[in-house]
Amino acid sequence: MTLLINIHTHRPHNNDEWSIQNLHADFDQLKSLFNYSVGIHPWYIDPKTIKHEMLLMKTVSQQKNVLAIGECGLDRLCNTDFKLQEKIFTEQIIWANEIAKPLIIHCVRAHAEIFKLLKEHNRISPVIFHGFNNSEELANNIIQKGYTLSFGKQLFNPSIEKLFSKIAGDYFFLETDDSDYTIDAIYKQAAKIRNISADGLSLQIQQNLKRVFNLSKK
Ligand SMILES: [Zn+2]
Repeated sequence: MTLLINIHTHRPHNNDEWSIQNLHADFDQLKSLFNYSVGIHPWYIDPKTIKHEMLLMKTVSQQKNVLAIGECGLDRLCNTDFKLQEKIFTEQIIWANEIAKPLIIHCVRAHAEIFKLLKEHNRISPVIFHGFNNSEELANNIIQKGYTLSFGKQLFNPSIEKLFSKIAGDYFFLETDDSDYTIDAIYKQAAKIRNISADGLSLQIQQNLKRVFNLSKK
């Protein structure tokens, strides 16, 4: 069977896939058998509890089966104060460096600000822009900076299809995020767009995983 890697999902682990489940709160839900990303999402920053949440996140993220920090980032369309978002995101960039784990980025209409903060603070951690749903120019810009993209349900959108058919194989992952699609359906769509076999696609993403997450050493 082809190995399906789901780099970002909000659903609990299922046996059809190798997945990284994202937790933005309730960090004590974490089970030792599965893989997680943990981070403070810009939507859910509560000034009253953020100090405590950050402390919990930092503690939990040191566990071996927490593979990444995130999703974290900036969102122009949410109600959280933007300055506070920047402060909390910056703290997570610095933390990811400290524990040398990749960052999974949530970005809505704030790419320039995210690039700036990463440039200032990101020294070590690989960076994945998840749920990519923007222009080809921006995709190329992200790749040129050495960052990686991740695609999910966006692959059923014609303009993203076109962009995805052209980007270099080293620079992407696939994900279900919080959508109703299965990772199998996302892989099938991705293989169709790139006109490659399911096995070829699977091997490519396995290589990307090893490189970005440095998993070969573990
Ligand atoms: Zn998500």
